[in-house]
Amino acid sequence: VVKLSEFGEKFAGQSGIVELMDDLGAALNENPDMIFMGGGNPAHLPEVESVFEQRLQAIMADPQQRHSLLGIYQSPQGEKSFRESLASFLRKQFDWAISAENIAVSNGSQSAFFVLFNMFAGTMTDGSHRHIHLPLAPEYLGYADSGLTQELFSATRPTIELLDNNQFKYHVDFANLNLSDDVGAMCVSRPTNPTGNVLTNDEIEHLDQLAQKHDIPLIIDGAYGLPFPSIIFNDVKPHWNSNTILALSLSKLGLPGARTGIIIARENIIQAYTNANTILSLACGNLGPAIAKSLFDDGEIVRLSQNHVAPFYRERAQQTVQWFNQALKDVPYRIHKPEGAIFLWLWFEGLPITSQELYERLKRRGVLIVPGHNFFVGINDDWAHKHECIRVSYAQDSDTVQQGVQIIAEEVCKAYSEA
Ligand code: PLP
Repeated sequence: VVKLSEFGEKFAGQSGIVELMDDLGAALNENPDMIFMGGGNPAHLPEVESVFEQRLQAIMADPQQRHSLLGIYQSPQGEKSFRESLASFLRKQFDWAISAENIAVSNGSQSAFFVLFNMFAGTMTDGSHRHIHLPLAPEYLGYADSGLTQELFSATRPTIELLDNNQFKYHVDFANLNLSDDVGAMCVSRPTNPTGNVLTNDEIEHLDQLAQKHDIPLIIDGAYGLPFPSIIFNDVKPHWNSNTILALSLSKLGLPGARTGIIIARENIIQAYTNANTILSLACGNLGPAIAKSLFDDGEIVRLSQNHVAPFYRERAQQTVQWFNQALKDVPYRIHKPEGAIFLWLWFEGLPITSQELYERLKRRGVLIVPGHNFFVGINDDWAHKHECIRVSYAQDSDTVQQGVQIIAEEVCKAYSEA
């Protein structure tokens, strides 16, 4: 028996995300022909990958650059010339008042969230406890178990706007968003994983004002957002100011293997993050920054995002919605308006079985999705809606997605007919 600490019990033991990932992994091992609509893997876009290949080859052909890539620990904040290139790119793109000192690199944005969340919430030095508040849940399930203490997250239920064509949209319920003194920071993903929602400019402005009023940072997770990979289908403004912590990632552009996240925040937050990152990681990987630096310098990253990545997901989202509309016409269903990211979020009101049961049945039919209740991070009360939704990735090749849609529709129809 291994005797574990409280940390060990919490992190080495079972948790929601670990169980779900194990289950998805085991299902795929057992049946490699599974239709995988479960994970957050980005699509394979050959044109984009070939640009990465060219940039990497240019680095490898230059002995000095090759040595920097392979043989040097960069500073824990990230290599200076990379941070300078990105700062100058962001100043040009958005006119944000930032320098290299406002930027830090992480080994994937996931690990940056771990540090940031625990930096601002948990047990405070005076013994009190603080939460990370999610002003709108459903939110990214990868946040859920990241607290060093229990109950790190609190959340506010959204309001639901019903739209035409069987669609709906979540909004922040400002009337019920009561921030108490025990909130250490707010966090939103924009676009949102799992729903494909993009918080409006007004919602972001309002959240920014609330955060400033309570003197807490607003963390914006831009893993799918602007300026890269720009998987946003409507016209919204990116947001940053000195009270915002913007987390970016190279993963959804097509580089999840490089494990590169980027944090943009005021200097004292960057410094605090960097100190923690030194203890955890010593330094970050060089591969992502090396490839991305040349893409910032000549602006290619915008071309890739806007001409390849965003259009692929926009068209695929529309197509998948059409397939669902045809296949689900005989049952009550709604799809969250797809405004970005790489998933559709389906809501089956009054579904006689839980989304967990639907997940199990679909798994037996060879289709993997993620049952929706996992995403209601910080919402502990009973709410039927939590068990009526599923997240479906549309990043696989189109035949696979179409087949998956068909099987999901069959199982949903069957479930309703059992009532
Ligand atoms: N944030 C969101 C909303 C995500 O969906 C993901 C990955 O799926 C991450 C953060 C973490 O990504 P990475 O650690 O690859 O940067």
